Amino acid sequence: MKVLFVTDLHGTTWKYERLLRIAQALRVEAVISGGDMLPKSGDLFDQDKFIVHYLDQHLAQFEAAGIYYLCYLGNDDLRIFSDLFDETCDRYAHVVNLAQRSFKIGDYEFVGMNWVADYPFRLKDWCRMDTPDYVFQEQLGSGLLSTRQGWRELDDWFAYARTLPTLEDELARLVRPADMERAIYVIHMPPYRLGLDKCADGLEVGSKAVYDFLLENQPLLALHGHIHEAPEISGRWYATLGRTICIQPGQLTPLTYVTIDLEPMNFDRHLIFQATRPLGSETRVDDNDDVGLGGCRLRKRGCPKSPVRENCAPEPVLSLPKESVRGEGGQLPSLPRRPLVVKLRQSPS
Ligand SMILES: [Zn+2]
Repeated sequence: MKVLFVTDLHGTTWKYERLLRIAQALRVEAVISGGDMLPKSGDLFDQDKFIVHYLDQHLAQFEAAGIYYLCYLGNDDLRIFSDLFDETCDRYAHVVNLAQRSFKIGDYEFVGMNWVADYPFRLKDWCRMDTPDYVFQEQLGSGLLSTRQGWRELDDWFAYARTLPTLEDELARLVRPADMERAIYVIHMPPYRLGLDKCADGLEVGSKAVYDFLLENQPLLALHGHIHEAPEISGRWYATLGRTICIQPGQLTPLTYVTIDLEPMNFDRHLIFQATRPLGSETRVDDNDDVGLGGCRLRKRGCPKSPVRENCAPEPVLSLPKESVRGEGGQLPSLPRRPLVVKLRQSPS
């Protein structure tokens, strides 16, 4: 069985469009989208519009093609849209919201989890303490949770987070697959210590809870995302943890995905650039198309087989707009309903 894993598309429509054509050309049985599916530029409270006016159609195309699509929201996708996302997925027999759920395709069982370990950024909808003894990073401002009425600002995020389950708890709560040797976990948050979590500034921000869980349970595969630049920074997009293979494709300028052939357990990472030919000039994908870039293999910056010379360089790390971090005199500014802070452009995201 062949599946395609992609993550952190953040509403980039050309990537979504290519994804469909590639999945069809490669005849994959399933596409797995590992979270952070909605746009994060602009007003996050408009993400519902993307679900209704874009994602719904995108999913319908996979349904029509008979390709499974297992997906979930990520930490930059507002949690208030979870129900809408769920309802949208439910419209299609082949589309599954995998958040905290499992789904079987053939002999394989996929289990999803999209909570993340806390980070310095303000949007806390999907954040958890990693473990009970988790040490918080210095924060870029007060915590924010999305609500139907706008942002709820948390006076003391650390105290609030301590009342929530930890990532370790969330992992323990997941459905237990019948056979770990045929289980594929889709966990947005990467484990620590494997190079799959390295930010542009060199900081390694992965999860101990995820690492321990995988080491203890030893599923066949674990698919991760979240730190877009990690593979380019660490030079690693996969790692082994005991018998488990962990994959983190990353996601920078090019469409980046990994194809996985489950029977021989073959993996290929692909980087597809938007401008390999004039936009709109393609009507089909065949073996000679850039799908065939397959073999953009490990530890390469850019693809030696690619017709383009551009390298997959890490995007610059942008800092938050100052006013969204701290107001005059170290006080928080009075937050507008939809503050600038939500334009989180830097990693982790
Ligand atoms: Zn993320």
